[in-house]
Amino acid sequence: MSQNLVLVLNCGSSSLKAAAIDYKTGDVHFNAVAERLNLSDAFMTFKYNDEKTVVDLSAKPHHVGAIETMMEKLHELGLDQNIKSVGHRVVHGGEFYKESVLIDEDVVDKVEQCITLAPLHNPANLVGISAAQQVFFNVPHVAVFDTAFHQSMPEKAYIYGIPYELYEKHGLRRYGMHGTSYRYVAAQAAKMLNRPEKGLAMVIAHLGNGASISAVLDGKCCDTSMGLTPLEGLLMGTRSGDVDPSVYSFLHEQEGWSLEEITELLNKKSGLLGVSGVSNDYRTVEAEALSGNRRAQLALDIFAYRLAKYVAAMTVATGRLDALVFTGGIGENSKDMRAKMIGYLGFLGLQIDDQLNAEARFGKFGIITKSQYPLALVIPTNEELMIAQDAARLAGLS
Ligand code: ADP
Repeated sequence: MSQNLVLVLNCGSSSLKAAAIDYKTGDVHFNAVAERLNLSDAFMTFKYNDEKTVVDLSAKPHHVGAIETMMEKLHELGLDQNIKSVGHRVVHGGEFYKESVLIDEDVVDKVEQCITLAPLHNPANLVGISAAQQVFFNVPHVAVFDTAFHQSMPEKAYIYGIPYELYEKHGLRRYGMHGTSYRYVAAQAAKMLNRPEKGLAMVIAHLGNGASISAVLDGKCCDTSMGLTPLEGLLMGTRSGDVDPSVYSFLHEQEGWSLEEITELLNKKSGLLGVSGVSNDYRTVEAEALSGNRRAQLALDIFAYRLAKYVAAMTVATGRLDALVFTGGIGENSKDMRAKMIGYLGFLGLQIDDQLNAEARFGKFGIITKSQYPLALVIPTNEELMIAQDAARLAGLS
C-alpha cells in the first residue's frame, strides 16, 4: 500500500469529490463523491479496489459530515495514516495568487476576499477547507487555484475596454479558468515533444462541459478566453460564450426579464443546449446531428468555427505556433470536431492525419497531424494529479 498519498478535495456547494492519489506514480487509491449535500437525502459513494459502496449521509448531510464519514472509511481501509497532505481545488485566487500555497489564516482571508469574483465557488471551497482542516488536522493543507496559471498574462490581455477605475476599484478584469489543467497539459506536451517548455509556443484548448482556450509561451499563459467569469469565450455545454453585452438590455426590454433571469439564460440554457434545443452533452448533440437534426448540426458548426477563430486569435499572443493541444472530454474524444476545426486552420500549416486522429481517443493521446511543425496533439488532462503534486511539494514531501 502506498505511503505517499495526498488527498485531493474539490468542494462544490452541494457536492464534494475526493481522491487519494499517490503523488509519485499518479495512481488513484481511493475515490469519494458526496452528492446532494445540505439536503435530507445526501449520500456518499466510495470507490476502492474496484469496489463501490454507497453510504447514507442523512444524519449529517453537510461537508463536515461527508469528510468525517470519508475519514472513517479511510481508517477502516487502513489508509488514513498514509495521507500526508491535503490539496484543495480553489476556484478563484484573484490577483493574490500566481501559484499554489500552503493554507494559513491569511490565505483563508484572501480566498474570502475573492468571493465577489466567484460567488458560487469560493464559499464552497472555504467550507471544504474548514471541514477538512477539522478532520485532517495534523497534515498540511494546500490551495491550488484555477486562476493562478493565468496571472502571467500581460495587462493588454486582461484589461477590458471599460473605465480603468472599475478594474482598480473592483478587480474587474479577465482572470481565466482551468489553469491547473493548462499547467498539467503544457508540461505533458513538452514532455511528449521532448522539448523544454521554454521556447514552445502552444495554443491549448480545454474542451469539457466548460470550455476555454489559452495561449502558452515558454510554459506561461499569455492570453485566455474565459474572463471575469467562466461565461466568456467559446461556445460551451450550457454557456453562451461571447455575446454582445447588449443582450442584457435587449432581453430586458423585449422580454421583461430580470438581470438574474438573463444571467441564468446565458449560463444554464445557452451554448450547445440553447442552439441545438437537444442537449448540453456534446456526444448527444453529435448523435442528433448525424440523424439529420439541423439545429444540432448548427450547434456543432458554431462550436468548431468559434474554436478555430480563437486558435487563430491566440497565435497573435504567442507570435507563432508550435503545437495546438486538445484536452477535456470533447477535445480528448471527438475526432470529428478536431478534424473539422483543424480544417479551418490550414493557413497556419496544420494538416490533420485522419488515421492518427481516429486513434487518439478514450485516453489514448498523441500527435494527430501530418505536418512536422506546427503539430496538433491530444493530451488527456489530469487536474487531480497536478493538485496532488503541488500539495506534496508544498508539504515538503517531494
Ligand atoms: P467537465 O467539464 O464536466 O469535466 P468533461 O471534460 O468530462 O467535462 O467533458 C464532458 C464533455 O465531453 C461532454 O460534452 C461529453 O459529451 C463530451 N464527450 C465525452 N466523451 C465523448 C466522445 N466519445 N465523443 C464526443 N464527446 C464526448
